[in-house]
Order: sequence, then structure tokens, then C-alpha cells
Amino acid sequence: MTASPRFECRDIRAGYGTITIVPSFSLMAEAGTVVAILGPNGAGKTTLLSTLAGLLPAQAGTVSVDGIELPNGRPATTSRSGLVLVADDRALFTTLTVEENLRAAQGKRKVTLDSAFDLFPALSNRRKVTAGNLSGGEQQMLAVARALVQEPRVLLVDEMSMGLAPVIVEQLLPMVRRIAEEQRAVVLLVEQHVGLALEVADRALVLVHGQVSLDGPASDLRNHPDRLEAAYFGATPAV
Ligand code: ATP
Repeated sequence: MTASPRFECRDIRAGYGTITIVPSFSLMAEAGTVVAILGPNGAGKTTLLSTLAGLLPAQAGTVSVDGIELPNGRPATTSRSGLVLVADDRALFTTLTVEENLRAAQGKRKVTLDSAFDLFPALSNRRKVTAGNLSGGEQQMLAVARALVQEPRVLLVDEMSMGLAPVIVEQLLPMVRRIAEEQRAVVLLVEQHVGLALEVADRALVLVHGQVSLDGPASDLRNHPDRLEAAYFGATPAV
């Protein structure tokens, strides 16, 4: 018997109330892979991630982690099942310290906070500082660190680079790659810095008006920016 994929979603229809934004999205990814989800503003990337994370009930379709189907629209159960979202608003407790934020995310899990401080040594020196007093880059590190101490099997990262200088993003994105490799997690990465995202991803999809207009190995897309550009403008080449 072959093992179930670490992450699978089938025929997900995502939207708000009676409005559908993403009509049908399916994806299968094995442990240790980073999949970049690219696409222009308003394409439906955040809507899709919110639906996969259970924050927004799916209008149709299923999401599974290691072959176990997650209940629809139940974010707390979904995160306990190992599918963890790092939202674009970072969702930190701004009046709590770095350490308190991490402990709140860690819950009763045996994972140590040191695993997070190993990945982000800069946070280690800021343990007693409240999250609201961190720099934007440090806040983003903390948001990822909070996900890490939840021992994610599937990590969804929505626009990590929002409001950050490219030099900071260059430092942060490789950490996502490390989490995929060291934790054997699947990472779905929504990112506007396309070049940087393709450097850390194994595979990339382009979403346009809720539909996948391109899907292929990240290395191919790095070498063929013309295909990427065509996909952004709605042409439908296959890699
Ligand atoms: P960006 O890259 O700009 O963040 P995106 O690809 O993440 O864009 P979404 O934020 O998912 O796109 O938005 C997709 C569409 O859904 C947009 O047309 C947006 O106006 C619409 N939308 C977003 N939130 C809601 C909501 N709460 N109710 C209704 N429509 C919404």
C-alpha cells in the first residue's frame, strides 16, 4: 500500500457566501515540498489559503493531511491536525512578550521553544520584549516561530513579505525551506516576491481569477520568466 500524501485538497470551491472566488482547486504535495502560489492581486490566493485553513468554510471539496480528511470550516481542529496558517496580518498578541506568544502557540506540545530560537536567533535576544515593540521583520519571524512550535505538518504562509524590505524577505524565505526540510512539512507559500519565492519553492502555481493558469517545477519557471508573465496575463501555457 502506498502512503497517503502529506497534503491533498480536492475540488475546493472557495468564496464568500454565494460568491465563488476559486471555483475548483486541487493539489497534492509530498512531505518536504514547498509549493509557491503566485498570481496577481485579487486572484483569490488569500481566499484559498483561508479556506484550506478552515477559517472560511469551503463551498465544496475536501482537505486532507496524511490521508485524514479535515472537518470543513473548523480552524482550531484544522490547526490541531497539523495544518497551520501564518496569516498576512501575523496575528500576534502584541501586548505579550515573544516568549509568551510562543508558549501560547505551543500549548501542551512537547516541542521546545529552543527549536524556534534556533531557527531565528534574533528572536532569542528579544524573548522578554512585547510583540508590539518588535520590528516588522522580527514580528514576521515570531509569526513563523509560532507556527513552528505547533509542529506543522502542513504550513500555509500568506504574504510573509507584506510591508517588509526585500533584504529582510531574502533572510526569511529560506527559513520556510528549512521548515519544510527539517520538519518534513508541506509548505504552501503565497508570495508577491516572485523571484524569491521561486528560489525556495519546488513547484509553483499561478492563480488568475481563481483558476490555475500555470503549474510547474519552480526551476522551470525561474528559467522561463516569459511563461510566468504569460500566465499572469491569463494565457494558459503548460510547463
Ligand atoms: P492579494 O494578492 O491582493 O492579496 P489575493 O490573490 O490574495 O489578492 P483575495 O484577497 O483572495 O486575493 O481576494 C480575491 C477576491 O475576493 C477579490 O475580488 C476580493 O475583493 C474578494 N474578497 C476578499 N474578501 C472578501 C469578503 N470578505 N467578501 C467578499 N469578497 C471578498
